[in-house]
Amino acid sequence: MVTAVNRVDLNGIGMTSQRTRERLIQRLVDQGVSNTAVLDVIRTTPRHLFLDEAMAHRAYEDVALPIGFNQTLSQPYIVARMTELLLGAGPLRRVLEIGTGSGYQTAVLAQLVEEVYSVERIKALQQKARQRLRQLKLRNVHMNHADGGMGWAERGPFDGIMATAAPERIPEDLLQQLAPGGRLVIPVGGQSQHLQVVTRTHEGFETEIVEAVNFVPLRPGTVR
Ligand code: SAH
Repeated sequence: MVTAVNRVDLNGIGMTSQRTRERLIQRLVDQGVSNTAVLDVIRTTPRHLFLDEAMAHRAYEDVALPIGFNQTLSQPYIVARMTELLLGAGPLRRVLEIGTGSGYQTAVLAQLVEEVYSVERIKALQQKARQRLRQLKLRNVHMNHADGGMGWAERGPFDGIMATAAPERIPEDLLQQLAPGGRLVIPVGGQSQHLQVVTRTHEGFETEIVEAVNFVPLRPGTVR
């Protein structure tokens, strides 16, 4: 939807690793990611911009990487898989993301849906993410420094909600902020976590358990 990323200066790591990027995309395909819009966005989004310099050279490996504050930028496979699950049958208008972190998943979403509302509890991470999204000219992202476990009621309901930090059980507020037909993609659990997709139907909620995952915990409160 937004092609701004293509205009960003892709010199340096971005350009020289074109082959590395293709290898990453092939790996995602091999792992079963099939949504071509998602694959295209991952191919063109400069993941290295979302990492500190010391980590940037590993940006196109299919691994989670540290972003400070004991948090991690999710593995590309997980970003692709969750995005594909969220998009499901068709395009989405309003999407809520819990856990902005580096802003990479936010950037991917912003190119595939109309508006992204992203909540982060650590102010410093949010500020860095905001700068990167501005640099990429992704203007359809709205940010909130808050405890995302409560969702973002003032901006709801949402056609899709994605959490990138795991609660022990799904917060009721998130379910309530789903529009009819809307989907929540969320890792759930403590030591052992599973990715779940919850769809709001006319009768209530339908839950599908997708696969085992390993996310940082969803924590209460905010950090200045
Ligand atoms: N999607 C991110 C992943 C970051 S890791 C990325 O692509 O980089 C998970 C993030 O969730 C962390 O930044 C963490 O601070 C945040 N988080 C944890 N609990 C939260 C909460 N209750 N509300 C909002 N953000 C939360």
